[in-house]
This record gives sequence, C-alpha cells and structure tokens, in this order.
Amino acid sequence: MSVYLDHNATSPLRAQAREAMARAYDAGGNPSSVHGPGRAARAIVETARASLARHFVTRAEDVVFTSGGTEANNLVIASAKAAGVKRLIISAIEHDAVRDAASASGLQVEILPVTPEGVADLGWLEARLSGWDRDADGVPFVALMAANNETGVVQPVEAAGRLVREAEGLFHVDAVQMAGKLAFDFAGSLAHYAALSAHKAGGPQGVGALLLACDAPLTRQMHGGGQETGRRSGTENVAGIAGFAAALAAVEVDEAARMAALRDALQLRLESVEGVRIWGAGATRLPNTLCLSADGWLSEIQVIAMDLAGFAISAGSACSSGKVRKSRVLEAMGASVDEAASAIRISLGWTSTQDDVDRFADAWMREYARIRPRLAAAV
Ligand code: PLP
Repeated sequence: MSVYLDHNATSPLRAQAREAMARAYDAGGNPSSVHGPGRAARAIVETARASLARHFVTRAEDVVFTSGGTEANNLVIASAKAAGVKRLIISAIEHDAVRDAASASGLQVEILPVTPEGVADLGWLEARLSGWDRDADGVPFVALMAANNETGVVQPVEAAGRLVREAEGLFHVDAVQMAGKLAFDFAGSLAHYAALSAHKAGGPQGVGALLLACDAPLTRQMHGGGQETGRRSGTENVAGIAGFAAALAAVEVDEAARMAALRDALQLRLESVEGVRIWGAGATRLPNTLCLSADGWLSEIQVIAMDLAGFAISAGSACSSGKVRKSRVLEAMGASVDEAASAIRISLGWTSTQDDVDRFADAWMREYARIRPRLAAAV
C-alpha cells in the first residue's frame, strides 16, 4: 500500500468517525420524523451540531450543515447580491469554490493580492476599503481563506475581519483547510461566514458546514423541506454529520505539534537539495503542509514518479484528482512559470509517521538526483 501524503486533498477517515457513522446508520430514522427512530436521528444531528459549535467557538443555532466546503462557499457568495453587495473582494489565493462562485455571481470581482510569502496584503485591503464608495460599490464583501490548501500559509483573518467590520462590510472565511489542523475560533475571526468540510479533517466526504454570525444575511439556495431552519433544505446527512463531529473530536491535542515536527524534518532534508525552493517558509503555515518547486522537474512527472515509488502526493492544488494545472496561488506569490510548473505539495496527517517522511525524502531525493542531469541536458 502506498504511503499517503495528500491529507489536504482528503484525510483518510478516522476510526472514531467510522464508528460514529456506523452508529448513526444503525439509528435509522429521518431527523424530521416525529417517531422514535426520527428523534434518535435528530439527537445525533443536534449533538454533532453542538459539538461543532464548541469546537469553532460559536452557537449551535449558527451551524448550517451542507454537502461540503464547496456548497458552503457557494451559499455565501450566492447570497451576497441580496445583501446589497455589488463588488466582491476575494484574495488571490482562494480555492476555486470561492473564485469560480465569485465569477459566476454576476458581481464585480476584485483581487486582494498576497505578499511573496503568500500572506494577504492587508495594507492593500485597508486602502481599498477606506476609499470604498458605498453608494456606487454597495456593501463591502471580502473573502479570505484561513489557510491555503497549496502552501499551508495561514492568513491574518482576524486583522482582515477588523478592517471589514470597521467598513461595515461582510467577511467570509474559507476555513476548510484550517479545521482540525489548527484551532479556528469563529467568534474571534470576526467573520460573518466560515466554510468547513469534514473530509479534510478525517471525517467523511460529502459533508460540511457553514458557520454564520448572528448578523450574517443568508439567502437560501435549496428549496424544499425547510431543514436547517429553512437555510438549507434537504434531509440531513445524519451519518456524515456524526462522522464530521467525531473526526474533529478525535484530533489529538499534540497532533499539530507532531505534524510540525515531521514536516520540519522533511523540509530540512529537501531544502538542502540544490534547485529546491520551499513556498511560504517565512510565513506561519499549517503544521502539515510542505509545498516546493524542484527546478526543471515537472509537477505531474514528480507525482507519477512518486506514485510509482509508492507515495501519494499532489501537484499543487489537486482538489479534483487528475486535474493538474498551473498554480494560481504560486503565481500570485511571484513564482515564475517554470517554478509554478514544478511545484508539488506534500501534506501530512493523522496517519503520518516518521518512517513515512524518511522514506519519502529518500525516494524523492534519489529520483531527483537520478533525473536531474537529464533535465539539465534537455534545457
Ligand atoms: N476550500 C478549500 C480551501 C479546499 O481546499 C477545498 C477542497 O480541497 C474546498 C474548499 C472544497 O471542499 P469540499 O471538497 O468539501 O467541497
């Protein structure tokens, strides 16, 4: 079996999540039914909601379950127009779930740039918001992710939130990659909205949540049975929701420190290789993520070579597997075309061990040393 080093794409299901899901499947009922099995299902959903609310420092009634991070992000952006938004400011490093939803919204989109370390430029944001013309530009709306999926760079969401609140705007945080890896305090972030996804934290795929501040406007997009207090119709994914809460509860207190030690040891070895550039190394990063470019060695070739050697990694953002394209995130950080084309992401998680990391470093360094003279000759 291959060594799995792609937790930012999906983190394998934790045993605690699987057990909680099995119990939920056994409970049967529809949470909207009034009979016993229905009430049992409702209790599972509401227990999970309360647990998520505690985890992210918010109120249970402000947690809306969705089919994942993509839906949560789309729900926010699709609601913006009715909230008086005419222009969306989104950071240059947002996931496609935000970027494409923004493009499809029919609203004007402005890009909040990032520094070469991949951190949102708050000087730019402050200047832009101070010149905001509410009559012409509508209610300010800013989307800034909590941590980037490709580089792991953690964003200054609280400081950005303060700027947006001062401008009486709406602030959205995609916290999909942050959840379960570092603490995310929704109340402290000053965000109106936060998107979450279970499978990035060792929960099941196809379930997520939107956190809403009490003053956050939301226009429902799904019409039907009025579940989630009318905010998101559709029978709840009871087992998925149970698995989501169980996965977050299973994150060990020292997990982040353990990840950071493994990642730093891996980085130390790989950065010593000539031609390697580490992205975001000077910024605060998620403890599990390492993004690097290897001079001349195309990302997809690296991914294939490592797959053959028994390691699962990804080429930049690999949300939908097999989709390899030049990283907009690295481009926004000033990467050259060649650097962006030779970037890979190694993302560790709860399954990762020192042995995984050592063996990966050995295999990757061996392969690069073998192929490098040929790459140089080909130039
Ligand atoms: N946002 C970020 C930052 C992500 O990394 C991803 C998935 O890679 C998503 C949103 C989409 O989440 P989901 O797969 O739950 O739809």
